[in-house]
Amino acid sequence: MNDQPFQTPIEYLKGVGTARADVLKKELAIKNLEDLLEHFPFRHIDRTQYYKIRNINPDLPYVQVIARLVHKEVLGEKHTKRLVAQVQDDTGVMELVWFQGLKWVEKNLTVGKAYILFGKPGLFNGKAQMSHPEIDLYSPEAMQRKGNMTLQPVYSSTEKLKQFSLDSKGIQKLVSNLLEQHAKDIRENLPLYIINKFKLMSRANAFKNIHFPEDANKLAEAKYRLKFEELFFLQLKLLKNKLLRVQKFKGNIFDKIGPYFNEFYNTKLPFDLTNAQKRVLREIRLDTQRGVQMNRLLQGDVGSGKTVVALMTMLMAIDNGFQTCIMAPTEILATQHYQTIKNLVGEDFVEVALLTGSTKPKERKIIHQKLENGELKILIGTHALIEDKVKYQNLGLVVIDEQHRFGVEQRAKLWKKNIIPPHILVMTATPIPRTLAMTLYGDLDVSVIDELPAGRKPIKTLHFYENSRLRVFGFMKEEIAKGRQVYIVYPLIQESEKLDLKNLMDGYEVISREFPLPKYRLSVVYGKIKPEEKEFEMQRFVKGETQIMVATTVIEVGVNVPNASVMIIENAERFGLSQLHQLRGRVGRGAEQSYCILMSKDKLSPDGKIRLNTMVKTNNGFEIAETDLQLRGPGNIEGTQQSGLLDLKVADLSADQDLLMQCRKCVEDIFATDPQLTSPENQILNRAFMAKNAGLSWDKIS
Ligand code: ADP
Ligand code: MG
Repeated sequence: MNDQPFQTPIEYLKGVGTARADVLKKELAIKNLEDLLEHFPFRHIDRTQYYKIRNINPDLPYVQVIARLVHKEVLGEKHTKRLVAQVQDDTGVMELVWFQGLKWVEKNLTVGKAYILFGKPGLFNGKAQMSHPEIDLYSPEAMQRKGNMTLQPVYSSTEKLKQFSLDSKGIQKLVSNLLEQHAKDIRENLPLYIINKFKLMSRANAFKNIHFPEDANKLAEAKYRLKFEELFFLQLKLLKNKLLRVQKFKGNIFDKIGPYFNEFYNTKLPFDLTNAQKRVLREIRLDTQRGVQMNRLLQGDVGSGKTVVALMTMLMAIDNGFQTCIMAPTEILATQHYQTIKNLVGEDFVEVALLTGSTKPKERKIIHQKLENGELKILIGTHALIEDKVKYQNLGLVVIDEQHRFGVEQRAKLWKKNIIPPHILVMTATPIPRTLAMTLYGDLDVSVIDELPAGRKPIKTLHFYENSRLRVFGFMKEEIAKGRQVYIVYPLIQESEKLDLKNLMDGYEVISREFPLPKYRLSVVYGKIKPEEKEFEMQRFVKGETQIMVATTVIEVGVNVPNASVMIIENAERFGLSQLHQLRGRVGRGAEQSYCILMSKDKLSPDGKIRLNTMVKTNNGFEIAETDLQLRGPGNIEGTQQSGLLDLKVADLSADQDLLMQCRKCVEDIFATDPQLTSPENQILNRAFMAKNAGLSWDKIS
């Protein structure tokens, strides 16, 4: 494929030159012809559609209206002089206003006649208004003429660019020059069999029509084609990387199910596994028998039983002669995993050790030794367990809890802990919509536990406004009287840190008055206090010495206090959905009915309302993640921020999920038969991929 012409610097395009090239670079990052070609209009003005006055509002772009002139009048003096007119259709009245060219306009406006008006709708004193609309006397012929006008592109621009006459119109002219000169150079990059299968427009046609559509259908086809291409090549890259990894790294083979697994399963596991847990274990079992390194993301809501699955996977590894470890992001979490696992396996079954920053040197030394001689099979800890001096005899499996707290770098470090890299199982309780996971973790396989163990009481979520505060206090007292514990969480946002802290302190004061000593005991934990103090307060709450934990979001991750059954979230409207869901997951861990109470101010933004309603309506993390994705777009979902993978130009990971799945499937099918893209029909893909990923070769991992 020869995309060379499009690498030409933008200054050489007709109508640009050095000065304009400079601002185009600075303001829109348009450096060459390709960048301009891909500076897509963000909408098109449609002159085939007509609006009724009742239906127009200031949120609409330029609109077209047919209405009859009922009044016109020049108002004001000198600077404030303006022509004001009223027009009317069968649905309402609209005001038109001109500040310039009054004489000419007035001469051309006749009361009683109908006009085709075109302009940006506004609102003035609560009434529909248009200033300086384009006007044409209405006639069927005039309508026809307008209808023949094609969709006009509107481009984003900036104040700076406008100083160089590069407003939307100016950019349009440049794009038009570009297409005139170079449309013939736009090469196809998809094989014919794909174009036919998905009924795609040709690439050249798509670029022409996304800028200057022949009609609305062609515009839609153009967008579809370009979205397809974008998602297709993204998946091609991700799946190719995965293929390469599989080829490059051998995997340990866990082909035996032995005494550890069997004894645990038959005599120690205190409950039946859910179907979802069984399914995931089967997926893992298949993965670990193929001789290929497993990289699996295990998603499941808090309490869905991921830890048990992880433990059983570890026992499989041990049965095959390997060591295993679990890495958690904080000491508290590591300690909890340690206790959970010790409880599950019981005494005299398998040794489990804990290694964190505060492990004593003497103990540490023993652990290091036992790892090196292979005696210790299960190690649980923080990142202390991937330090260089920690050496394993034969590490076969690493479980990582809460993926988004660990970087890719740390994952890579783990791989080097063994000659054959260990299998990796990443657990996360922050569900990510499937399509997003596919892109972000394109090279991971994804397992989902989408079912809670039987008999769990779903958490009841309620939303209250400030005026119900006393009722909420009353409810807290009832629950505490039953022996339960309560979390009260305040937001802490960096930008408003001082104010937030004041909120927390004020809240704390009110609560201490309402819940006085000695009957009630409170803990308070927030970011600014010392780690030791925080730990101390957390432990008091964990042990049940205090009944109420007032905190900022520091308690968001981990922390298992089964006896805490009430979560109160203050200023809930200020939290994102995934955060709310995470916080709610702190309760509902015991046998008792749990509650999540969302306190908010009275006036909510539309998004705020959707967030709180979603929380009240569902406990399902995936449903919540989908709503979150729709509200905020993929770039803002937790854990995705640093990923360049989401900088898509035309496609939208939320709106185009179906298309993404189709592209994924299409790429999978191609790789199933032609992983090297050597067949003649796939040559075109091979070349396009190389061009897009310059510097990356087929046999290197990016
Ligand atoms: P997660 O790590 O996904 O938050 P855990 O593995 O910690 O969940 O499990 C939460 C609780 O549920 C634990 O007390 C665990 O013993 C229990 N549990 C796990 N699986 C089941 C099951 N299939 N049936 C009943 N209880 C279960
Ligand atoms: Mg857990």
